[in-house]
Amino acid sequence: MEIQTILENMKYVILIGDGMADYPIPELGEKTPLQVANKPNMDHVAEEGANGLLKTIPDGMEPGSDVANMAIMGYNPKKYYTGRGPLEAASIGIELKKDDVAFRCNLITVHDGRIIDFNANHISTKESSKLIKTLNEHFNIGKFYTGVSYRNLYIYPDREALKVKTRPPHDIIGEPIEDHLPSNGETAEKIKQIIKESHKILKDHPTNIERSKKGKRPANMIWLWGQGQKPTMKTLREKYGLKGATITGVDLIKGLGVYLGLDNVNVPGATGYLDTDYKAKGEHAIKALQDHDIIFIHVEAPDEAGHARNIKEKIKAIENIDSKILGPLLDELPSYDSFRLTLLTDHPTPIKVGTHTPDPVPYAIYGENIEKDNIRSYDEESAKRGRLGLSVAWKLLDKLTGS
Ligand SMILES: [Zn+2]
Repeated sequence: MEIQTILENMKYVILIGDGMADYPIPELGEKTPLQVANKPNMDHVAEEGANGLLKTIPDGMEPGSDVANMAIMGYNPKKYYTGRGPLEAASIGIELKKDDVAFRCNLITVHDGRIIDFNANHISTKESSKLIKTLNEHFNIGKFYTGVSYRNLYIYPDREALKVKTRPPHDIIGEPIEDHLPSNGETAEKIKQIIKESHKILKDHPTNIERSKKGKRPANMIWLWGQGQKPTMKTLREKYGLKGATITGVDLIKGLGVYLGLDNVNVPGATGYLDTDYKAKGEHAIKALQDHDIIFIHVEAPDEAGHARNIKEKIKAIENIDSKILGPLLDELPSYDSFRLTLLTDHPTPIKVGTHTPDPVPYAIYGENIEKDNIRSYDEESAKRGRLGLSVAWKLLDKLTGS
Protein backbone atom coordinates (compact mmCIF):
# COMPACT_ATOMS: atom_id res chain seq x y z
CA MET A 1 0.00 0.00 0.00
CA GLU A 2 2.69 2.41 0.99
CA ILE A 3 4.77 1.67 -2.10
CA GLN A 4 1.68 2.38 -4.21
CA THR A 5 1.31 5.83 -2.64
CA ILE A 6 4.94 6.61 -3.22
CA LEU A 7 4.76 5.60 -6.87
CA GLU A 8 1.71 7.79 -7.40
CA ASN A 9 3.61 10.88 -6.31
CA MET A 10 6.82 9.94 -8.01
CA LYS A 11 8.58 12.52 -10.16
CA TYR A 12 10.63 11.16 -13.04
CA VAL A 13 13.41 13.11 -14.68
CA ILE A 14 15.12 11.82 -17.82
CA LEU A 15 18.17 13.91 -18.70
CA ILE A 16 19.54 13.23 -22.18
CA GLY A 17 22.84 14.74 -23.30
CA ASP A 18 22.65 14.16 -27.05
CA GLY A 19 25.68 12.34 -28.45
CA MET A 20 27.66 12.62 -25.18
CA ALA A 21 29.23 9.17 -25.37
CA ASP A 22 32.47 8.76 -27.29
CA TYR A 23 35.46 6.56 -28.05
CA PRO A 24 38.89 6.96 -26.41
CA ILE A 25 40.70 9.95 -27.93
CA PRO A 26 44.52 10.06 -28.36
CA GLU A 27 44.62 13.80 -27.50
CA LEU A 28 42.95 12.98 -24.17
CA GLY A 29 45.39 10.20 -23.34
CA GLU A 30 43.00 7.56 -24.73
CA LYS A 31 40.19 8.78 -22.50
CA THR A 32 36.72 9.95 -23.52
CA PRO A 33 35.28 13.47 -23.00
CA LEU A 34 33.00 12.01 -20.28
CA GLN A 35 36.06 10.57 -18.52
CA VAL A 36 38.00 13.83 -18.44
CA ALA A 37 35.18 16.37 -17.96
CA ASN A 38 34.71 17.94 -14.53
CA LYS A 39 31.17 16.72 -13.78
CA PRO A 40 30.63 16.22 -10.04
CA ASN A 41 26.84 16.01 -10.35
CA MET A 42 26.86 13.30 -13.02
CA ASP A 43 29.37 11.34 -10.95
CA HIS A 44 27.18 11.77 -7.87
CA VAL A 45 24.25 10.23 -9.77
CA ALA A 46 26.47 7.32 -10.88
CA GLU A 47 27.89 6.83 -7.39
CA GLU A 48 24.59 6.98 -5.51
CA GLY A 49 22.64 5.15 -8.20
CA ALA A 50 22.67 2.08 -10.41
CA ASN A 51 24.58 1.95 -13.69
CA GLY A 52 24.51 0.04 -16.94
CA LEU A 53 24.46 0.17 -20.71
CA LEU A 54 21.41 0.84 -22.85
CA LYS A 55 20.94 -0.25 -26.42
CA THR A 56 19.05 2.70 -27.93
CA ILE A 57 19.38 1.77 -31.62
CA PRO A 58 17.81 -1.55 -32.65
CA ASP A 59 19.93 -3.69 -34.99
CA GLY A 60 19.70 -2.60 -38.61
CA MET A 61 18.28 0.86 -37.88
CA GLU A 62 19.98 4.19 -38.55
CA PRO A 63 21.55 5.64 -35.38
CA GLY A 64 19.45 8.81 -35.47
CA SER A 65 18.37 10.90 -32.50
CA ASP A 66 14.74 10.31 -33.49
CA VAL A 67 15.08 6.52 -33.30
CA ALA A 68 17.11 6.67 -30.08
CA ASN A 69 14.81 9.09 -28.29
CA MET A 70 11.72 7.14 -29.31
CA ALA A 71 13.30 4.14 -27.59
CA ILE A 72 14.18 6.18 -24.50
CA MET A 73 10.57 7.38 -24.30
CA GLY A 74 9.42 3.77 -24.08
CA TYR A 75 8.53 2.73 -27.63
CA ASN A 76 10.27 0.07 -29.69
CA PRO A 77 11.45 1.89 -32.84
CA LYS A 78 11.25 -1.36 -34.82
CA LYS A 79 7.53 -1.29 -34.25
CA TYR A 80 6.69 2.42 -34.17
CA TYR A 81 9.28 4.38 -36.15
CA THR A 82 7.96 5.38 -39.57
CA GLY A 83 10.38 8.16 -40.61
CA ARG A 84 11.49 11.62 -39.56
CA GLY A 85 8.91 13.39 -41.77
CA PRO A 86 5.91 12.62 -39.53
CA LEU A 87 7.80 13.69 -36.39
CA GLU A 88 8.72 17.03 -37.90
CA ALA A 89 5.17 17.46 -39.20
CA ALA A 90 3.86 17.05 -35.65
CA SER A 91 6.37 19.56 -34.30
CA ILE A 92 4.98 22.31 -36.54
CA GLY A 93 1.36 21.36 -35.91
CA ILE A 94 0.46 19.49 -39.12
CA GLU A 95 -2.09 16.74 -38.53
CA LEU A 96 -1.49 13.88 -40.94
CA LYS A 97 -4.47 12.03 -42.39
CA LYS A 98 -4.56 8.25 -42.73
CA ASP A 99 -3.02 8.05 -46.21
CA ASP A 100 -0.74 11.09 -45.92
CA VAL A 101 2.99 10.53 -46.27
CA ALA A 102 5.23 13.26 -44.83
CA PHE A 103 8.58 13.89 -46.53
CA ARG A 104 11.35 16.08 -45.16
CA CYS A 105 11.83 18.74 -47.84
CA ASN A 106 15.34 20.21 -47.72
CA LEU A 107 16.09 23.40 -49.60
CA ILE A 108 19.48 22.63 -51.14
CA THR A 109 22.07 24.09 -53.49
CA VAL A 110 22.98 22.19 -56.65
CA HIS A 111 25.72 23.03 -59.09
CA ASP A 112 26.67 21.16 -62.28
CA GLY A 113 24.34 18.29 -61.42
CA ARG A 114 25.74 17.78 -57.91
CA ILE A 115 24.54 18.71 -54.42
CA ILE A 116 27.03 21.19 -52.99
CA ASP A 117 25.06 22.27 -49.90
CA PHE A 118 22.29 20.30 -48.18
CA ASN A 119 21.03 23.40 -46.34
CA ALA A 120 21.61 26.28 -48.81
CA ASN A 121 23.85 28.19 -46.38
CA HIS A 122 21.32 27.69 -43.58
CA ILE A 123 18.70 29.71 -45.48
CA SER A 124 16.44 31.80 -43.22
CA THR A 125 12.88 30.71 -42.45
CA LYS A 126 11.61 33.96 -43.96
CA GLU A 127 13.30 33.24 -47.29
CA SER A 128 12.23 29.59 -47.16
CA SER A 129 8.59 30.55 -46.76
CA LYS A 130 8.70 32.55 -50.00
CA LEU A 131 10.14 29.60 -51.92
CA ILE A 132 7.64 27.20 -50.34
CA LYS A 133 4.79 29.50 -51.38
CA THR A 134 5.98 29.42 -55.01
CA LEU A 135 6.27 25.63 -54.91
CA ASN A 136 2.68 25.35 -53.69
CA GLU A 137 1.49 27.65 -56.48
CA HIS A 138 3.21 25.51 -59.07
CA PHE A 139 2.54 21.91 -58.04
CA ASN A 140 -1.00 20.59 -57.82
CA ILE A 141 -0.23 17.33 -56.04
CA GLY A 142 0.52 17.30 -52.35
CA LYS A 143 1.32 20.32 -50.23
CA PHE A 144 4.52 22.01 -49.02
CA TYR A 145 4.85 23.47 -45.53
CA THR A 146 7.38 25.92 -44.16
CA GLY A 147 9.33 24.52 -41.24
CA VAL A 148 12.52 26.03 -39.83
CA SER A 149 15.35 27.26 -42.09
CA TYR A 150 16.18 24.65 -44.76
CA ARG A 151 14.10 22.00 -42.96
CA ASN A 152 10.67 22.07 -44.60
CA LEU A 153 7.97 19.50 -45.29
CA TYR A 154 6.06 18.02 -48.17
CA ILE A 155 2.89 16.00 -47.61
CA TYR A 156 1.99 13.54 -50.35
CA PRO A 157 -1.57 12.20 -50.18
CA ASP A 158 -0.91 8.58 -51.13
CA ARG A 159 0.60 5.84 -48.99
CA GLU A 160 2.25 4.38 -52.10
CA ALA A 161 4.97 6.96 -51.38
CA LEU A 162 6.08 4.81 -48.44
CA LYS A 163 7.76 2.43 -50.90
CA VAL A 164 9.90 5.11 -52.49
CA LYS A 165 13.62 4.76 -51.81
CA THR A 166 15.21 8.08 -50.82
CA ARG A 167 18.64 9.24 -49.64
CA PRO A 168 19.48 11.92 -47.04
CA PRO A 169 21.12 14.81 -48.92
CA HIS A 170 23.88 15.25 -46.31
CA ASP A 171 25.12 11.75 -47.20
CA ILE A 172 25.60 12.47 -50.91
CA ILE A 173 27.38 15.84 -50.99
CA GLY A 174 29.42 16.23 -54.18
CA GLU A 175 27.90 13.19 -55.85
CA PRO A 176 25.86 13.28 -59.09
CA ILE A 177 22.19 13.91 -58.33
CA GLU A 178 21.10 11.45 -61.01
CA ASP A 179 22.61 8.55 -59.04
CA HIS A 180 20.55 9.30 -55.94
CA LEU A 181 17.12 10.54 -57.03
CA PRO A 182 14.11 8.63 -55.63
CA SER A 183 13.65 5.14 -57.05
CA ASN A 184 11.46 2.04 -56.77
CA GLY A 185 8.24 2.27 -58.74
CA GLU A 186 5.68 4.60 -60.25
CA THR A 187 5.29 6.95 -57.30
CA ALA A 188 9.06 7.28 -57.10
CA GLU A 189 8.97 8.60 -60.67
CA LYS A 190 6.44 11.25 -59.64
CA ILE A 191 8.50 12.32 -56.63
CA LYS A 192 11.61 12.38 -58.81
CA GLN A 193 9.88 14.69 -61.32
CA ILE A 194 8.82 17.06 -58.53
CA ILE A 195 12.44 17.33 -57.36
CA LYS A 196 13.76 17.88 -60.89
CA GLU A 197 11.09 20.43 -61.72
CA SER A 198 11.73 22.33 -58.49
CA HIS A 199 15.12 23.30 -59.91
CA LYS A 200 13.49 25.01 -62.88
CA ILE A 201 11.10 26.91 -60.60
CA LEU A 202 13.61 27.92 -57.95
CA LYS A 203 16.79 28.69 -59.85
CA ASP A 204 15.66 32.14 -61.04
CA HIS A 205 13.34 32.88 -58.11
CA PRO A 206 13.65 36.52 -56.89
CA THR A 207 14.65 35.28 -53.42
CA ASN A 208 17.56 33.37 -54.94
CA ILE A 209 18.63 36.26 -57.14
CA GLU A 210 18.75 38.37 -53.96
CA ARG A 211 20.78 35.69 -52.18
CA SER A 212 23.28 35.40 -55.01
CA LYS A 213 23.78 39.18 -54.99
CA LYS A 214 24.66 38.96 -51.29
CA GLY A 215 27.15 36.18 -51.98
CA LYS A 216 24.93 33.49 -50.44
CA ARG A 217 24.27 30.13 -52.04
CA PRO A 218 20.89 29.95 -53.81
CA ALA A 219 18.34 27.41 -52.56
CA ASN A 220 17.86 26.24 -56.12
CA MET A 221 16.33 22.80 -55.60
CA ILE A 222 14.38 20.72 -53.10
CA TRP A 223 15.34 17.27 -51.87
CA LEU A 224 12.62 14.94 -50.57
CA TRP A 225 13.53 12.15 -48.14
CA GLY A 226 12.86 10.62 -44.69
CA GLN A 227 9.19 10.00 -45.46
CA GLY A 228 6.71 8.21 -43.25
CA GLN A 229 3.12 7.93 -42.04
CA LYS A 230 1.58 9.10 -38.82
CA PRO A 231 2.74 6.63 -36.17
CA THR A 232 0.06 5.05 -34.01
CA MET A 233 1.37 5.15 -30.48
CA LYS A 234 -0.43 5.21 -27.15
CA THR A 235 0.28 8.37 -25.22
CA LEU A 236 2.52 8.20 -22.18
CA ARG A 237 -0.54 8.85 -20.03
CA GLU A 238 -2.37 5.88 -21.57
CA LYS A 239 0.66 3.64 -21.27
CA TYR A 240 2.03 4.62 -17.86
CA GLY A 241 -0.54 7.01 -16.40
CA LEU A 242 2.03 9.78 -16.45
CA LYS A 243 1.60 13.43 -17.39
CA GLY A 244 4.78 14.40 -19.19
CA ALA A 245 6.70 17.22 -20.81
CA THR A 246 9.65 17.62 -23.15
CA ILE A 247 12.25 20.34 -22.96
CA THR A 248 14.21 20.46 -26.19
CA GLY A 249 15.33 22.77 -28.97
CA VAL A 250 15.07 20.03 -31.59
CA ASP A 251 11.99 19.62 -33.84
CA LEU A 252 12.21 15.83 -34.05
CA ILE A 253 12.06 15.38 -30.29
CA LYS A 254 9.25 17.95 -29.99
CA GLY A 255 7.30 16.04 -32.66
CA LEU A 256 7.86 12.75 -30.88
CA GLY A 257 6.44 14.38 -27.77
CA VAL A 258 3.31 15.47 -29.66
CA TYR A 259 2.46 11.86 -30.58
CA LEU A 260 3.10 10.78 -26.98
CA GLY A 261 0.81 13.49 -25.61
CA LEU A 262 3.63 15.41 -23.93
CA ASP A 263 3.60 19.16 -23.37
CA ASN A 264 6.53 20.92 -24.93
CA VAL A 265 7.99 23.51 -22.62
CA ASN A 266 9.31 26.37 -24.72
CA VAL A 267 12.58 27.70 -23.38
CA PRO A 268 13.63 31.07 -24.79
CA GLY A 269 17.29 30.79 -25.76
CA ALA A 270 17.26 26.99 -26.19
CA THR A 271 18.75 26.83 -29.67
CA GLY A 272 19.80 23.22 -30.00
CA TYR A 273 23.30 24.46 -30.77
CA LEU A 274 26.43 25.02 -28.70
CA ASP A 275 25.26 28.42 -27.46
CA THR A 276 22.07 26.98 -25.95
CA ASP A 277 20.98 28.60 -22.72
CA TYR A 278 21.65 25.78 -20.23
CA LYS A 279 20.61 27.74 -17.17
CA ALA A 280 17.20 28.58 -18.64
CA LYS A 281 16.68 24.93 -19.56
CA GLY A 282 17.41 23.89 -15.98
CA GLU A 283 15.05 26.51 -14.57
CA HIS A 284 12.23 25.55 -16.92
CA ALA A 285 12.73 21.89 -16.08
CA ILE A 286 12.37 22.62 -12.38
CA LYS A 287 9.24 24.62 -13.03
CA ALA A 288 7.75 21.92 -15.29
CA LEU A 289 8.22 19.36 -12.50
CA GLN A 290 5.57 21.13 -10.45
CA ASP A 291 2.73 20.04 -12.71
CA HIS A 292 4.17 17.05 -14.59
CA ASP A 293 5.02 13.52 -13.45
CA ILE A 294 7.81 12.98 -15.96
CA ILE A 295 10.04 15.38 -17.85
CA PHE A 296 12.46 14.65 -20.67
CA ILE A 297 15.24 17.19 -20.87
CA HIS A 298 17.13 16.90 -24.12
CA VAL A 299 20.32 18.90 -24.72
CA GLU A 300 21.72 18.89 -28.24
CA ALA A 301 25.07 20.64 -27.68
CA PRO A 302 27.42 17.62 -27.11
CA ASP A 303 26.17 16.11 -30.38
CA GLU A 304 26.91 19.33 -32.27
CA ALA A 305 30.44 19.31 -30.83
CA GLY A 306 30.84 15.68 -31.89
CA HIS A 307 29.79 16.49 -35.45
CA ALA A 308 32.23 19.42 -35.46
CA ARG A 309 34.94 17.06 -34.06
CA ASN A 310 35.63 19.67 -31.40
CA ILE A 311 36.98 17.98 -28.24
CA LYS A 312 37.09 21.16 -26.17
CA GLU A 313 33.50 22.13 -26.98
CA LYS A 314 32.29 18.62 -26.24
CA ILE A 315 33.86 18.65 -22.79
CA LYS A 316 32.46 22.15 -22.20
CA ALA A 317 28.95 21.02 -23.21
CA ILE A 318 29.13 18.10 -20.74
CA GLU A 319 30.33 20.40 -17.96
CA ASN A 320 27.56 22.90 -18.71
CA ILE A 321 24.89 20.20 -18.52
CA ASP A 322 26.41 19.06 -15.24
CA SER A 323 26.63 22.42 -13.49
CA LYS A 324 23.72 24.35 -14.99
CA ILE A 325 21.04 21.69 -15.47
CA LEU A 326 21.80 18.60 -13.40
CA GLY A 327 23.14 20.48 -10.36
CA PRO A 328 20.04 22.65 -9.85
CA LEU A 329 17.80 19.60 -10.46
CA LEU A 330 19.58 17.59 -7.77
CA ASP A 331 19.03 20.50 -5.36
CA GLU A 332 15.33 20.64 -6.19
CA LEU A 333 14.32 16.98 -6.38
CA PRO A 334 14.51 16.19 -2.65
CA SER A 335 11.65 18.65 -2.06
CA TYR A 336 9.33 16.05 -3.63
CA ASP A 337 8.09 12.93 -1.80
CA SER A 338 9.95 10.66 -4.15
CA PHE A 339 11.82 10.88 -7.40
CA ARG A 340 13.83 8.88 -9.89
CA LEU A 341 16.34 10.54 -12.15
CA THR A 342 17.90 8.89 -15.18
CA LEU A 343 21.03 10.31 -16.76
CA LEU A 344 21.93 9.13 -20.22
CA THR A 345 22.81 9.93 -23.79
CA ASP A 346 20.86 8.85 -26.84
CA HIS A 347 23.80 7.55 -28.91
CA PRO A 348 27.54 8.21 -29.15
CA THR A 349 28.71 10.94 -31.55
CA PRO A 350 32.42 10.11 -31.35
CA ILE A 351 34.90 12.86 -32.20
CA LYS A 352 36.86 10.36 -34.27
CA VAL A 353 33.83 9.50 -36.43
CA GLY A 354 32.12 12.91 -36.58
CA THR A 355 28.69 11.30 -36.73
CA HIS A 356 26.34 9.04 -34.74
CA THR A 357 27.19 5.40 -33.98
CA PRO A 358 24.79 2.68 -32.76
CA ASP A 359 26.89 1.51 -29.76
CA PRO A 360 25.10 1.00 -26.41
CA VAL A 361 25.28 4.07 -24.16
CA PRO A 362 26.06 4.53 -20.44
CA TYR A 363 23.11 5.28 -18.16
CA ALA A 364 22.63 5.85 -14.45
CA ILE A 365 19.40 5.72 -12.41
CA TYR A 366 19.27 7.49 -9.09
CA GLY A 367 16.50 8.00 -6.52
CA GLU A 368 13.71 6.24 -4.63
CA ASN A 369 14.50 2.58 -3.87
CA ILE A 370 17.33 2.41 -6.40
CA GLU A 371 20.03 0.22 -4.98
CA LYS A 372 23.49 1.54 -5.76
CA ASP A 373 26.44 -0.35 -7.18
CA ASN A 374 30.15 0.36 -6.81
CA ILE A 375 30.49 2.71 -9.78
CA ARG A 376 32.07 6.11 -9.12
CA SER A 377 31.89 7.91 -12.44
CA TYR A 378 29.38 8.42 -15.22
CA ASP A 379 31.24 7.31 -18.33
CA GLU A 380 31.41 4.64 -21.04
CA GLU A 381 33.94 2.39 -19.27
CA SER A 382 32.49 2.55 -15.73
CA ALA A 383 28.98 1.80 -16.98
CA LYS A 384 30.15 -1.55 -18.32
CA ARG A 385 30.71 -2.71 -14.75
CA GLY A 386 27.37 -1.42 -13.45
CA ARG A 387 24.89 -3.83 -11.92
CA LEU A 388 22.16 -3.09 -14.50
CA GLY A 389 24.14 -4.73 -17.31
CA LEU A 390 22.98 -4.28 -20.88
CA SER A 391 19.29 -3.66 -21.66
CA VAL A 392 17.18 -2.29 -24.48
CA ALA A 393 16.23 1.36 -24.08
CA TRP A 394 12.53 1.00 -24.81
CA LYS A 395 12.09 -1.05 -21.63
CA LEU A 396 13.64 1.65 -19.43
CA LEU A 397 10.35 3.32 -18.51
CA ASP A 398 8.73 -0.05 -17.76
CA LYS A 399 11.50 -0.66 -15.29
CA LEU A 400 11.47 2.83 -13.82
CA THR A 401 7.72 2.90 -13.28
CA GLY A 402 7.48 -0.72 -12.19
CA SER A 403 4.91 -1.51 -14.87
ZN1 LIG B 1 21.12 12.39 -30.88
